Amino acid sequence: MKKLWLFSLAFFVLLPPTFPLAAPAAGERPEITPLRVVFVDVGHGDCIWIRTPFDGDRTNDRYRGYNIIIDGGNSSQRIVPLLNQVGFRWGTVVDWMILSHAHADHYRGLIGILRDFRVRRIVDPGYRSTAQAYSAFCWLSLIEPNSEFYSPVVGIATIPGLNSLGETIPLELDWGEELDVQILHSNPAVTDDTINLSSIVIRMAYDDVSFLFTGDIEGKYRPRGGFNDPDTPMFVEKFLLDRYVTEDNNLLQSTIIKVPHHGSETSSTNPFIRAVAPSEAVIQSGNLHGLPDQSVVERYEAHGARVWRTDRLDAGKRSSETPGTSHVIVVSDGTGYEITYFPDN
Ligand SMILES: [Zn+2]
Repeated sequence: MKKLWLFSLAFFVLLPPTFPLAAPAAGERPEITPLRVVFVDVGHGDCIWIRTPFDGDRTNDRYRGYNIIIDGGNSSQRIVPLLNQVGFRWGTVVDWMILSHAHADHYRGLIGILRDFRVRRIVDPGYRSTAQAYSAFCWLSLIEPNSEFYSPVVGIATIPGLNSLGETIPLELDWGEELDVQILHSNPAVTDDTINLSSIVIRMAYDDVSFLFTGDIEGKYRPRGGFNDPDTPMFVEKFLLDRYVTEDNNLLQSTIIKVPHHGSETSSTNPFIRAVAPSEAVIQSGNLHGLPDQSVVERYEAHGARVWRTDRLDAGKRSSETPGTSHVIVVSDGTGYEITYFPDN
């Protein structure tokens, strides 16, 4: 516990809070804050906290200051202390909560967030997993006061009281006018064996700096599972390439990619990486399932990307001991960015 306190203190000194503690005096401009994207080290699993930029003026239309959570990792108990560790304060309202797909290493933590924080909008790809904890996530989403639960993302909702966000993809999201945000993929028509292929894919651009959030999309079979060629994309990676990359347009290109599926061999085919052409590749994994696959790390490096890993200090530790040791934090003003590990050791 004492260690956690020291941790929090160090964080407070290194990264001042997003908002000033007290309301600014009349005439005084509040603090201007850049875009901040935190790839939270939840061990094996994904959790991303996005704090949208704030231009310092609460009276104009540019002010939004949204808090967005994409996935919550695999523990409803552990997620809130981990978010606190990276500066997510008690009382924060989550403006958008995105579940990329119905697997426990993505939704279990969202259950903890729904219990402890207020959430305005919840987005789910719409495949109804029969897992009990997924039902708990849906139930808490449905009863969350003053909130909208969008499921599926596109098309017609089949459950009374639920809505979708629109009829087609790409689908624009309003995360403040500083950001261009689009859902590029989401598909409820999967089975228990192919839930990864339902993953919501989001591209977010802040002027010159862009992000691609990919959930657990896949691009090929496992080496012994079927046709397997890292140069021939299949599944969602093929869909994205076919749909968004033409001779004179490439909507996939992104400065920073959340590497699909924890760096699994079944994702990140070479044509996909070539199209995204990331400068930074962030892998969210823990000491579990042998992920990331070394060949995937090498594929990104061969395409000139720097690889960042939330499991970089996990060797030799039990999977329960690794969360919180290597968050990856990106701060951007839209023209450039800084990317660092936190804690920085
Ligand atoms: Zn996963």
